[in-house]
Amino acid sequence: KKLGIALVGLGSYSTYQLAPALQDTQHCYLAGIVTGTPEKEQIWADKYGIPEKNIYNYQNFDDIANNGDIDVVYVVLPNSMHAEFSIRAAQAGKHVICEKPMGISVEECTAIINACDKAGVKLGMGYRLHSEPYTQQVKEYVKEKTFGDILFVSADASYRATGNPDQWRLNKELSGGGALMNMGVYAVQSTIYGTGENPVSVSAQEFSTRPEYFKNTDETITAQFKFPSGAVGNITTSHNFNANAMYVSGTSGWFRLQPANNYGPLSGVTSKGDEIKFPHESQQKLQMDDFARHVLFGEPNKAPGEMGKRDMMIVEAIYQSIANGGETIALDFEPGYGFG
Ligand code: NAD
Repeated sequence: KKLGIALVGLGSYSTYQLAPALQDTQHCYLAGIVTGTPEKEQIWADKYGIPEKNIYNYQNFDDIANNGDIDVVYVVLPNSMHAEFSIRAAQAGKHVICEKPMGISVEECTAIINACDKAGVKLGMGYRLHSEPYTQQVKEYVKEKTFGDILFVSADASYRATGNPDQWRLNKELSGGGALMNMGVYAVQSTIYGTGENPVSVSAQEFSTRPEYFKNTDETITAQFKFPSGAVGNITTSHNFNANAMYVSGTSGWFRLQPANNYGPLSGVTSKGDEIKFPHESQQKLQMDDFARHVLFGEPNKAPGEMGKRDMMIVEAIYQSIANGGETIALDFEPGYGFG
């Protein structure tokens, strides 16, 4: 059986990445859509052969509970709408994939996790990198100590935002925050799978050069982490410049991915002179098949809800540090909390 997925929110990520990837997936397929834009209904129905009974809007979405074609609801809306639609999907008895960031507060993440637990449905994050081979290689290097004990990780996840200053990503009500919410989660994650540990503390700084453009969301943030082993890490995330890399240094060598977190192909080198190279496949395809295998066959959930919540706890600590002039904020995770 292939699982039927319904995409909620037919913006650019659904249109250009997820729907095309769902044409190549092995264990799931595009079965339905949920859209607030009536004109998109016919376009998507024609393009992907979606029957009318599998097309919903935000108002009648809850009727999806009675639709046996839909097994998984994939929430691809602006960040502040993730919690509402993930919770409604769980209450309709559907498994949930929630895009990053999981919500706009830790409280929302907890509410999503609780709703999925209560409904007995599976929950996965749209963290595509955990399904692609370069990130697996990083985890393998760290686990096998290929470069010794990890001492330092640096990670950048940024792009230069242009265009309409009123786009939802630059509107705090809809995005929950700026670069940190949007791209920062990738850099935070790089430091975690680059060390194999959750951080024990963070301090952070914010920089602003275009306040007239970034009216109420963060433009550039840097943050420094400490890890239980003593390793240290730093991240930069920005909506003002392009930067996409991770660098990991251990007692016997180093490796680097650049780019490290875009849709690929990624690329990397090591201090041993090796190139890190894998054949390119759609990350979104790999991610959705991994989640489908989790639901269908009980295989591990590579990006569980707790991972999304952990990242949001770190995001909140970063904002708290900035609000307190760069104060060091302690973080207290169980070892391995949120790991896939
Ligand atoms: P987008 O702006 O292209 O699309 C947003 C969709 O939400 C549109 O279809 C829009 O009509 C709909 N929408 C409903 N209510 C809205 C409102 N009040 N304001 C604005 N739009 C509204 O955004 P996107 O790039 O598709 O991003 C959607 C989600 O997917 C975000 O949470 C984003 O972080 C995530 N995303 C993840 C990745 C990834 O690599 N995992 C990549 C891109 C986006």
